[in-house]
Amino acid sequence: MKFPIMGDIATVAVISLDIDNTLSSALELMIEYEHRHIVVLDDKEFRLLSVMDIIKKQDEQISLQSSLKDMDLVKIPVIEKYKNVLDALELINDRNEHICVLNRDKSLYGFVTQSDIVANIDPETLMESYKLQDFLKLGRKVKMVDKDAITTNVLKEMVSNSIDNVVVVDRLKAIGILTTKDVMHLIKEQVNMSLPVSTYMSSPVETLTSSSSIKIALEHIKRKHFNRVVVVDEDGNFEGVVSQKELITLTYSKWASLMKAHQNELSEMNLFLEHKNKEYEVMATTDSLTGLYNRHKFIELYRSSYNTMIQRENKLSLILLDIDYFKKVNDSYGHNIGDNVLVHIAQMLLKTLRNIDIVCRWGGEEFILLLPATDLAQALKIAENIRINIQNTVIDRVGSVTVSLGVSEVLEGDTMNDVVQRADEALYLAKDSGRNCIKSELDIAPTL
Ligand code: GH3
Ligand code: MG
Ligand code: MG
Repeated sequence: MKFPIMGDIATVAVISLDIDNTLSSALELMIEYEHRHIVVLDDKEFRLLSVMDIIKKQDEQISLQSSLKDMDLVKIPVIEKYKNVLDALELINDRNEHICVLNRDKSLYGFVTQSDIVANIDPETLMESYKLQDFLKLGRKVKMVDKDAITTNVLKEMVSNSIDNVVVVDRLKAIGILTTKDVMHLIKEQVNMSLPVSTYMSSPVETLTSSSSIKIALEHIKRKHFNRVVVVDEDGNFEGVVSQKELITLTYSKWASLMKAHQNELSEMNLFLEHKNKEYEVMATTDSLTGLYNRHKFIELYRSSYNTMIQRENKLSLILLDIDYFKKVNDSYGHNIGDNVLVHIAQMLLKTLRNIDIVCRWGGEEFILLLPATDLAQALKIAENIRINIQNTVIDRVGSVTVSLGVSEVLEGDTMNDVVQRADEALYLAKDSGRNCIKSELDIAPTL
C-alpha cells in the first residue's frame, strides 16, 4: 500500500542555520523570513528553535549574543523525503511536533508537522495511491474462458462456482466479457447457447492497466456506467476483473484497519493536541510572570462581570494599583529582584481578596482589581486593607514597598474604558498626593 511521500507534503519554506551562530542571528533570520521556527544544524543532527524559546530566554534574561550551542534545543526526528507518510506516524509522540524531512544526502529538504501527517491519511488518499495490481494480488479468483469454449459449458461452470461474469480471452488477450446479465437476455430471447462464447460476449472490452490507481478505476467505472473493469498488464494480457463495490469496500476496510493499527499513535496525538490547546489558552489569558490574568483576559472578564451586575442589580467596583517608586527598586536591586516584588504583590492580592474578585496584571507594575457586589465605600475599605498589607510585608532583599491606589465604581452604561479612566485619574491624584495612599473618583470629581 502506498501513501504520499514525505517530499510531497513537506513545507520547503524552512530556514536553517548552523549551531555556531548566536541567538541574535537566529532571531534576525526569523524576522526577515517571518517564520516562527528555525532549524538549527548541529553536525548530523537537527534541532528546533521556536519563537517561544526565544521569548523564554528573554524572560530568563539570557543574552541574545549567546551561542545556540548553549540553548539546549530539542532534537527533531528526521525522515527521508522518499519515505511515505505512514513511516512518519512512528515518529509522532508528544515531544515532536515537527519532523525534519531530509534529502538522500541527509541535507535538509523541509519539515512537516503532526497535523500534516494525519491530514494525509484518508480513504481518498488510499484510492489515489493504491493500485489495481495491489488489489489483484489479494488472489481473487476470476474466471477466464477461451473464446472457443461452448457457451452452455461456460454457463454450467458459472452456476456451479457462483461466478457472475467471465472474461473471454484469445491467447491471453481479453477480447470480451460475458455476465449473468447478458445471459438473462439470452434466455429471454430463447437463444440456443451451443455456440462458442465469443458469439454472445460483449465486446470490445474496455480495460485498464494494473498500474492504474483505484481512484482512476472508480472514475472510469462511473463515467462508463460499468459495474466492473477488466484489468490487463502492460502488454495487454488479462490479469483480472474488479467491480466498483469491491474497490470501494476494499479501500474503506484498508483505511479502517490502518486507522485501527495506528489508533494508539492517533489518540496519543489527540491528547497531545488537546493538551497543547489548553496550554495556548492559558498562555493567551495569563501573565507569565505572576500567573495572574492578563489585560486581554480582563477585557473579557469585565464584560461578563458588568452583565452580572446589571442582572443582579448590584454594585461592581474597580481598583487600579501602582507600585510607588518601582523604578528605584529595579535600579537598586536589579530587574530580577524587581520581578520578585511583582510576584509577591500578586500573591498577596490573591490571598487578600475573595474568590469572586478578579485580579489582573494591567501592565508593568500596575494591577487592576474588579470587585463584584462591592460598592465604592466597600471598595475603599478593601483598598486600604491592601495598602496596609503591602506596606507591612517584608520582601526579601528589598524590605517593604508601598503602593498607590485609585478606586471607581461601575455605573450602568459604563464601558470598561470609562471606569478604568476614572480609577486612573484617582490613582494619579494619589501619586500627586504623596503616594502610599488611596483616592477615589469622588476625589477627582466631587460633583459625581
Ligand atoms: P511611581 O511611584 O510614580 O509609580 O514611580 P515608578 O518608578 O513606579 O513609576 P514608573 O511607571 O515611571 O516606572 C515603572 C517601572 O516599572 C519602570 C519599569 O522599569 C518597571 N517595570 C515595568 N514592568 C516591569 C517588569 O515586568 N519587571 C520589572 N522588574 N520591572 C518592571
Ligand atoms: Mg506605573
Ligand atoms: Mg509605579
